[in-house]
Amino acid sequence: MTANATRPEPHAAAQAPRGEQRLRFAVVGPSGRMGQQVCALVGAASDLTLACRVGVEGEPAAQTLLAVDAAIDRGDLAPLDVLVDFSHRSAVAGHAEFCARRGVAWVLGTTGLEAADQAAVDAAAARTLVFQAANFSIGVALLLDLAARAARVLGVDADVEIVESHHHHKVDAPSGTALAIARAVAGARGQALDEVVRHGRQGLVGARSRGEIGMHALRLGDIVGHHELHFGWPAEGLVLTHDARDRAVFAVGAVRAARFAASQRRAGAVGRVGMAELLAGA
Ligand code: NAD
Repeated sequence: MTANATRPEPHAAAQAPRGEQRLRFAVVGPSGRMGQQVCALVGAASDLTLACRVGVEGEPAAQTLLAVDAAIDRGDLAPLDVLVDFSHRSAVAGHAEFCARRGVAWVLGTTGLEAADQAAVDAAAARTLVFQAANFSIGVALLLDLAARAARVLGVDADVEIVESHHHHKVDAPSGTALAIARAVAGARGQALDEVVRHGRQGLVGARSRGEIGMHALRLGDIVGHHELHFGWPAEGLVLTHDARDRAVFAVGAVRAARFAASQRRAGAVGRVGMAELLAGA
């Protein structure tokens, strides 16, 4: 966690009402970078119980999903409300089957899914509540929301440029988040992104065409993730900026998503939701 550990997160979700049973969490990949942070947040929350840590065979302080399943059958482990999953795509199908069969809400942050993995996610969403997000930052979710609103209001005549900065180890460009921002703008303006996106500019590229969305990537230092969305039109301009300074923002957002998913699931909800639904309920 960053800065002031004693001060609650400004965007932390409301705690469960007094007297309500604590939400029971299972966390996958407890020794992974994300899993460690999620375990720490759940362990520190007065309304949540870290019921079990789910890991690969031999992972310290973790049980395999098979062992967790058997413990629930024997009655050694009380039923779970939610499984928080930042692991690996190879685990997705097994987690999908478990959550669907047990009716456990599933918060899925694992990325790099193949088509068959996503099909398993969608099948699980027919039987339980699946909260899937490629980026659990509340700030990025808000940025996407604001981007679409600004694009709708300003229309296709406003020039749009997206500039993203990341640490010098990042191997792909543009970032997934920059692409999500571009999709939000294009979608709001009724454009097909592939037809209007322009990656970088060099040489005699000619005048900017109407509706173009420019994308630019900076790679330097240890920047966790910085995104700027620029709108320009005659005599005015607007810049929306998001800065991620610590990977902890993803864990904070995932725990907030898990509270939301577990509560919705207790009320009987099924389906696939994401950050847009979380913001809509805020
Ligand atoms: P990591 O390598 O640090 O941790 C991965 C964890 O998953 C480890 O504990 C590992 O033992 C466990 N694991 C691997 N295979 C498994 C399997 N088959 N079954 C159960 N557990 C398994 O990785 P990380 O940085 O924590 O990221 C994990 C995933 O989350 C990646 O896909 C990453 O891209 C994604 N991620 C998503 C967000 C988001 O906001 N959605 C943010 C950060 C990372």
